[in-house]
Amino acid sequence: MVQMYLARMEDVFAQEEVLQLKARVRKNRGVVITSHRSPDGDAIGSSLALQHLLCGMGVDATVVMPDAYAKFLHWMPGHAGVVFHDTHPESANAWVSQADVLFCLDYNAPSRAGGLAEAVSQASSRAESFVVMVDHHQEPDPFADLMLSDPTSGSTCELIYRLMGAWEETSLLTADMASCLYCGLITDTGSFRFASVQPSSHRMAAALLETGMDQSRIHSLVYDACRLDQVQLTAYALSQKLQVFPEHRSAIISLNQEELQRYNAQKGDTEGLVNRALAIEGINFAAFIKEDVDRVKLSLRSRGTFSVRDVAAAHFHGGGHHNAAGGACEGESLDSVVSRLVSLIPSWSDDLQYDD
Ligand code: 5GP
Ligand code: MN
Repeated sequence: MVQMYLARMEDVFAQEEVLQLKARVRKNRGVVITSHRSPDGDAIGSSLALQHLLCGMGVDATVVMPDAYAKFLHWMPGHAGVVFHDTHPESANAWVSQADVLFCLDYNAPSRAGGLAEAVSQASSRAESFVVMVDHHQEPDPFADLMLSDPTSGSTCELIYRLMGAWEETSLLTADMASCLYCGLITDTGSFRFASVQPSSHRMAAALLETGMDQSRIHSLVYDACRLDQVQLTAYALSQKLQVFPEHRSAIISLNQEELQRYNAQKGDTEGLVNRALAIEGINFAAFIKEDVDRVKLSLRSRGTFSVRDVAAAHFHGGGHHNAAGGACEGESLDSVVSRLVSLIPSWSDDLQYDD
């Protein structure tokens, strides 16, 4: 098992195993690409971009996702061919568990793959399957045969772009592939706002624009395609459900099923809500807590030194990045999760008293 946890992806790509991977995908037929549950722009963007790259190399790859992603991501070239586990569990499981080469993008443990978790674990314990993880979350589980992990990277799309460079296949960058990469790049970096943005992120963006892809259209498709219901749900959440604890530099928003249904909420409708709470002056910690059908889901954000990844891991069965993390509680009510969070906030107060 080859495990490489190197600080910079350039170093990882210098490894012989990355070139061997190119030879391996070229000679295998069953190449499958997966990502995490509730796929976001980076998850689906990196997956479809890799599929386009492989296609350019003459390799047919199948993209398999645990479940559906938000409508504002359906424009991505390649979307129509994605296999979803929630609607087609048998074929999705078969593709993944029998893959010759299985790519796991934007997640670092089989459990993050939702309904595909078991099939991913099966593939990783099956000698004939070669499992490759490409991810930017901290502390990966050593489940893959090749672990391309770079927690300093702002997005998995940046890692796919580097993989293309390491394989010396940059001539295969098309406007379609660039659109997928650009979508993941902007959604995971808050449109180049977050601390994770590096000079190389902008260099990559420049190369993507040079393909002729329409970045202005992508921004509108991702950010300006809200349904009226969604805008009104946001208005309701901010005006009625926002709790601010100024003395603890914290703010939270929660929504229950009845409220979500009242506004006909669909996948992705509440994405970004937590950032509105974090945008309040003086706030260093924000949480959005949502009652899903089968669990309570948390989105956590911070500014500066306070680690929401530690909070998610210690209290909410989750993980993620230092300033953006999430967790999920099964078998616990929304009210219980919210009151547990509210009672924890004062204990973090000292650590939240700073101006970033
Ligand atoms: P979001 O709040 O946008 O859903 O997620 C923020 C970050 O936390 C993402 O990088 C995501 O991968 C990670 N994350 C979200 N939910 C979970 C979870 O339940 N478990 C783990 N380990 N990470 C999560
Ligand atoms: Mn990501």
